[in-house]
Amino acid sequence: MTMKLLFATGNRGKLREAREILGSAVEVVAPFELGILGEPEETGLTLEENSIIKAEYYHALSGLDCFADDTGLEVDALGGAPGVHAARFAADIARRDGLPAPADHDFSANIDSLLGELEKHLGEPRTARFRSVITLIINGERHFFEGVLQGRIAYGRSGSGGFGYDPVFVADEYPDRSVAELPQEVKNAISHRGKSLRALAQWLMAK
Ligand code: IMP
Repeated sequence: MTMKLLFATGNRGKLREAREILGSAVEVVAPFELGILGEPEETGLTLEENSIIKAEYYHALSGLDCFADDTGLEVDALGGAPGVHAARFAADIARRDGLPAPADHDFSANIDSLLGELEKHLGEPRTARFRSVITLIINGERHFFEGVLQGRIAYGRSGSGGFGYDPVFVADEYPDRSVAELPQEVKNAISHRGKSLRALAQWLMAK
């Protein structure tokens, strides 16, 4: 029998990736497909805390077994920023500079802020990593899965695939192009979320 899991996200890019990676063994549904439209405030200080907040929020609203991913981008030259604040980096920078803040999840503004901040660190390594933490709530218990993608931040955008910071993230495995230039199945094979989702799938299959 196919297992049904709610993926606690409103991000269609993440939803597509989860469906591709989990395949036919798991029926993945999203809150908006069930008419659940709100979203929790991500007030956690760590990826794990935020993924718990999202998973618990949608689990309480739906009553379904549920998983959530929280992804951070750690840029070494920026002391690990934006980290857990990756979705609202542009807003953080704008507030710091006393400017009007763009909306959270404004991918383009976040990339502009990232490239702008790195201009102050020319000559330093541009190494970075995505880290994905998944919280699964199943039968009333929590389980955690993690995946990391190592790479570096490019000097400008390229490619139109993926989402978020993909146009400026160059994975170590494909050093001559951005993740947004990789076919989706190649991104899934190497990505942080590919790894955390496959760990989730393996755990479900072994159960
Ligand atoms: P969150 O996990 O939805 O809070 O995502 C944090 C930020 O990282 C958002 O701006 C996402 O768009 C971005 N992000 C998450 N996953 C990826 C990815 O696979 N590639 C590029 N950006 C991502």
